[in-house]
Amino acid sequence: MTRHDPFLRTAIRLQGLLAHPHHTGDDSIEQRAATVQGYAEALVKLLTLWSRCQKRGWHVGSLHTIQRLHMTVRMLQQAVADANHHVERVVPRRAPVLRELLGELLQLEEEFTKVTIDRGVISVITEPVELDDVYLGSFQIELPIAQLVGDRVGSDVFQIIAIEPHPATGSDVVHPHVRDGRLCAGDATVPLASALRDGRLSDAFLTVRSVLNTYNGSSAYVPLHDWNGIACANCESIVSEDDRFYCERCRSDVCNDCYATCDVCGEGCCTSCLEKDRRSNRLCCGECRHRCGGCSRIVDSDSFDDELALCPECRDEREREEQEQQQTEEIHDDDNDDHNGAERTTADAVELAGQSADGPITGGAAEAAEPVSA
Ligand SMILES: [Zn+2]
Ligand SMILES: [Zn+2]
Ligand SMILES: [Zn+2]
Ligand SMILES: [Zn+2]
Repeated sequence: MTRHDPFLRTAIRLQGLLAHPHHTGDDSIEQRAATVQGYAEALVKLLTLWSRCQKRGWHVGSLHTIQRLHMTVRMLQQAVADANHHVERVVPRRAPVLRELLGELLQLEEEFTKVTIDRGVISVITEPVELDDVYLGSFQIELPIAQLVGDRVGSDVFQIIAIEPHPATGSDVVHPHVRDGRLCAGDATVPLASALRDGRLSDAFLTVRSVLNTYNGSSAYVPLHDWNGIACANCESIVSEDDRFYCERCRSDVCNDCYATCDVCGEGCCTSCLEKDRRSNRLCCGECRHRCGGCSRIVDSDSFDDELALCPECRDEREREEQEQQQTEEIHDDDNDDHNGAERTTADAVELAGQSADGPITGGAAEAAEPVSA
């Protein structure tokens, strides 16, 4: 091995970078200690208060105190974790020696099939990754060593590249925990940063590889069950999470083509839940359409006659019919009136004629009757 060996040259450069750990040396460590102390004191006070409530049988006070106790314990835990993280970052460490750094680089060759060092970038290639039966292919993990400076060194110094990308349907996400080439290390964030600052490079690369080989659904950029998209409930075409719509009416996911809005109320729903009023040409959701009681076509609720339960045409038709019927009845009534008038005239005429013809007889009878009643 000569000084021209890329591994040795890189180890020498790494030694220079890691020899002077940059630490902030600010007073924020004291602020964090004060926060921890504050919560710890509050906890002691609350415990005293709680036991007093217990002794005196103050149930409401006791319950209230327990709630505050739980919250204070949580805050204290958070404050301790924060202080711990800060101490990790700022406390000076022993700088790794050259032999150790070279050992780390050589270790990489044992862990990964392909390790290259080119222009200050250490890169390794992983075995193909498959998570929950979703094949994602191999990844190249790159570490530009110039970035190993400062105390904010973390998982984002790595660049993750899919060798044969199998991105999620409709997106450029190549791994559930990688976005734009950056790793979302989740629980591994702190150990990863710590390994990098200590110069434990093989640990750092192995941690990245284990993150790539582990699936955590709660922190995934695209969940694996959606990786290959899902079928539209209407047309069965495969759609990604970003391109699909949810229909509240039938509770199904549909593609963009199978989603529209009701022209009456403006609510979005799938095209299966919409029907067209062929006359008004409006798409109507279940709430905004009716079936005409006359011609049984679909009618939008704005055009529908609720009282008669008819479409406008059937309503007009019915009105016309009613008018016609009314007219017919009126004519009929008039006819009857004329007919009755004619009969009366005849009768009158006959009566008149009878009076004039039989006048003397009638008079005679009247005259004849008079003597009887008298
Ligand atoms: Zn569709
Ligand atoms: Zn629907
Ligand atoms: Zn509607
Ligand atoms: Zn109708």
